[in-house]
Amino acid sequence: MKPLIYLDNAATTKTAKEVVDAMLPYFTEDYGNPSSLYSLGAKSKEAVTKARETIAGTLGAQSNEIYFTAGGSESDNWVFKATADAYEQKGKHIITSRIEHHAILHTCDYLAKKGFEITYIDVDENGILKLDELEKAIRPDTILISVMFANNEIGTIQPIKEIGEIARKHSVLFHTDAVQAYGHVPINVDEYNIDMLSASGHKFNGPKGIGFLYIRKGVKIRSFVHGGQQERGRRAGTENVTGIVGIGAAAERAFRVMEERNKREIELRDYLIAQIEEKIPYCRLNGDRVKRLPNNVNFSFRFVEGESLLIMLDMEGICASTGSACASGSLDPSHVLLAIGLPHEIAHGSLRLTLGEETTKEELDTVVAALVRIIERLRSMSPLYEDFLRKQ
Ligand SMILES: *Cc1c(COP(=O)(O)O)cnc(C)c1O
Repeated sequence: MKPLIYLDNAATTKTAKEVVDAMLPYFTEDYGNPSSLYSLGAKSKEAVTKARETIAGTLGAQSNEIYFTAGGSESDNWVFKATADAYEQKGKHIITSRIEHHAILHTCDYLAKKGFEITYIDVDENGILKLDELEKAIRPDTILISVMFANNEIGTIQPIKEIGEIARKHSVLFHTDAVQAYGHVPINVDEYNIDMLSASGHKFNGPKGIGFLYIRKGVKIRSFVHGGQQERGRRAGTENVTGIVGIGAAAERAFRVMEERNKREIELRDYLIAQIEEKIPYCRLNGDRVKRLPNNVNFSFRFVEGESLLIMLDMEGICASTGSACASGSLDPSHVLLAIGLPHEIAHGSLRLTLGEETTKEELDTVVAALVRIIERLRSMSPLYEDFLRKQ
């Protein structure tokens, strides 16, 4: 069997060894309940407090503004449902973008059925939010603006600071789904005027099933889980201590290695982009060339079916994605690729390759060689391609 080449780090990442090592004692030695009053419980409580402080520090926030959740989807759900609940008196209008993750879009569908009005702001051909449209969409009854920090499919990084300024100017709460960005690029909640922010451990070499929500002090937000007093009574249930220790360790590590890692990833990313553009005709890079995550590469290849491409890459031990993992399995083209203006048939032939800290140049050379071969083969079987060549 060929060695695995993992280029799907936007779907999930490998948990770092040092993160696992930090978690292990909390399974079998320091396993007390943080709410218990004896010293075994106090040890767990201390670990939870430390993780909360670490994470708050990375964002320029205070530790009592960090709430642990079960991941990005829960944080996103919490923001929308609880804000809707708490601010309903002010209005029932919410603004978001067309290219959000389904955790946001499907929560919007739910709220729309409950009588909320949602405005979806367009993005340009590179996937950058249209700021003038955003400002025009704000009304006296707008209670929330939510725009993702970086897109999970095409990697575009949004003008978050400008969006935060617009929200602040109109006194509207601003939430950002930073699941793809947190731990990968620097974020400061005050500098960017962010009122709420979602993040998830498994997207930055932490464990799965743990995330957090930053909620600025003073924002009215309802409890998401009722029960005990955990998370200041807003998200009850015995803390996921091992997960919390893991996400804390992963955050500490991510910010420690960020600068060096980004430098290396950007170099590899741009190498991969250049290689594909040089060696494969009729392709298009999706997303902004510069304002993009250091590890994201997304291409559309004409006359190729994305699903077939994935299957053939898998046979060579290469893990990639056609879009978001949640969207695969459905035949509808990605809503993100449609939002940047790609026609259906081109959106269908798209491939996302997301690098990780262990990705090497040699692996990328292997992947490019495989892509050249597979795409030639798929095109040779396409009647559309034959037709296209004849007309050239
Ligand atoms: C992965 C992802 C989520 C969901 O996070 P989970 O922790 O898997 O629930 C939400 N938003 C974005 C942008 C993501 O990439």
